[in-house]
Amino acid sequence: MKVEVDSLSGFCFGVRNAVEIAERSLVEGRVYSLGPIVHNDMEVKRLAAMGLVSIDHSEFSALKNCKVLIRAHGEPPDTYATAKSNNIEIIEATCPIVKKLQRKIKQTWERDAADGSQTVIFGKPGHAEVTGLLGQINKEGIIVTAPDSLPALDFNKPVNLFAQTTMSIRDYALLAEAIKAKYRESGANPDVMVKTHKTICRQISDREPHLKEFAGNHDVIIFVSGNESSNGRMLYQVCKSINPATYFVAGEGDLDILWFKDRKTAGICGATSTPKWLIEKIKDAAVKMLSKHSCP
Ligand code: SF4
Repeated sequence: MKVEVDSLSGFCFGVRNAVEIAERSLVEGRVYSLGPIVHNDMEVKRLAAMGLVSIDHSEFSALKNCKVLIRAHGEPPDTYATAKSNNIEIIEATCPIVKKLQRKIKQTWERDAADGSQTVIFGKPGHAEVTGLLGQINKEGIIVTAPDSLPALDFNKPVNLFAQTTMSIRDYALLAEAIKAKYRESGANPDVMVKTHKTICRQISDREPHLKEFAGNHDVIIFVSGNESSNGRMLYQVCKSINPATYFVAGEGDLDILWFKDRKTAGICGATSTPKWLIEKIKDAAVKMLSKHSCP
């Protein structure tokens, strides 16, 4: 059987940047990370062995006189205020794309406040990036999780629509259309009242069509990701929609020899939070498993 690793899979730019910043900082001693640095347990364990300690927000509030890394998802202004009052040195690893989005949502919210403009964020409630975005606008945003769960909007007032960077571009377009349709029904002009901001990261939107092609070129797909990665779940579904023989694995122990039965080619790919070393490790484990067993 031919087993191929997707050459474009592995960390996105923002996560790679955060991991490199962590590795450099750890040379000088222990560093705390506010939340796991990446939604991948294997990578978190690797960095923990180097001295990176994951903490939650209540542990963060109790810390003083130490170094805390802000991961790629970013944080709300409150976090920086707490750090300042507790003499915590912030190691800034927020993805520059997320930083730009934080500035944009804040500027738009301030600019359009006089019109009573509503801010909708298409994203996962409680996700760190969404919390960071809400913090920029005094928590006055409305979170929407799916295109078919529309919020109660005031159709007499305009709306600015933003998306968490890792959402599906297709679902975001569906949501924008659904909101525009509601404005139209209410007699308002959606072209004037609904402003859709393009905030889905290219590292995600470019990966979607690429993975569709990759999934279609193989008999079986092994998708490697942490269970807690929303980007991983989304890209896994993208692969599965093209190739029903797509399987989600978090580690080599999840591989099943039966998946490869009567298949000629296998493709191995992953999320933007999946380290390349783990994808290669899964490939080696799959090849070893296939060489040991003759498929029943
Ligand atoms: S997905 Fe995009 S925005 Fe999010 S961390 Fe990666 S590069 Fe940054």
